[in-house]
Amino acid sequence: MSILTISDLKKSYGRIQALKGVSFEVPEGAVFGILGPNGSGKTTLLSIILDVLNADSGTYSWFGKPASPDLRKHIGSLLETPNFYHYLSAVNNLKITNSISSRGDAAGIDAVLQKVKLYERRNSRFSTYSLGMKQRLAIAAALLGDPKILVLDEPTNGLDPVGIMEIRELIIELSKKGHTIIMASHLLDEVEKVCTHVAILKTGTLITSGSVHDVLVDEDVVELSAADIQQLKEAVKDYNGVHTVTSSEQFVQLYLPKGTAKPDEINSYCFGKGITLSHLMIKRKRLEEKFFELTNN
Ligand code: ATP
Repeated sequence: MSILTISDLKKSYGRIQALKGVSFEVPEGAVFGILGPNGSGKTTLLSIILDVLNADSGTYSWFGKPASPDLRKHIGSLLETPNFYHYLSAVNNLKITNSISSRGDAAGIDAVLQKVKLYERRNSRFSTYSLGMKQRLAIAAALLGDPKILVLDEPTNGLDPVGIMEIRELIIELSKKGHTIIMASHLLDEVEKVCTHVAILKTGTLITSGSVHDVLVDEDVVELSAADIQQLKEAVKDYNGVHTVTSSEQFVQLYLPKGTAKPDEINSYCFGKGITLSHLMIKRKRLEEKFFELTNN
């Protein structure tokens, strides 16, 4: 079942078209990454689906229904870091958040602190927390009322490597506990490590979406050379399973599904076409390269 369906969302700020007709679906139980470079429209998209900002056109529905205050109760969100009181404990800060949002009860505060692993430190002042702990408290605030869905904008931004790791582990654990998570990120590595699904945005346009495996699947790249590059390029176009063939002055690159490149088979295939290879090297295509290719072409 799809938790969120977005259809043809458009939003402009004056002359800037932040979203140019974006559509995709978020399946239940996913950790769904909205991936894109700075300024690609991620925050705008999250703000619209959280009803903080109105779209110019297009629609979105949660659980197959248009947004409503009742449905909104099932969605916890973290768009901006909340202003916690530095001299108050985690528990007292969450009591204040709770009284403003009236999402949960006192028992809920203990439960969310346990979920984000701050229960042991629940009575320590906020000012004594590490950056990672502060961000975990912000996620705890979003979890008040036990929402099914959690929407997070760049949840690891500004954290040190330890804090980043803590938040990534927390997201994976929350997903295992049944929350569907929708998060924006500009880090391919993060999406690859944490997310099950991804939508890639570039300057307001959806480049692709689907399971992380399908979208960001790695490929084998075989670099070949022979006396006649053009002849070689023509010959390998029909090689079994080939995705793409590119060439430079010196080399031809053959892109094949991950794990399928067999040097001896490629060599004898070329030999069968009357070509003697002077160079054959198998490289792995790096995901960064794939992301760069997706967001630049
Ligand atoms: P970042 O990671 O840098 O926050 P983003 O992918 O979240 O980027 P948005 O913040 O949604 O992208 O911005 C998309 C585009 O809209 C950018 O060109 C941005 O400058 C512009 N934009 C966003 N908010 C406003 C605003 N309030 N007024 C004018 N332009 C805006």
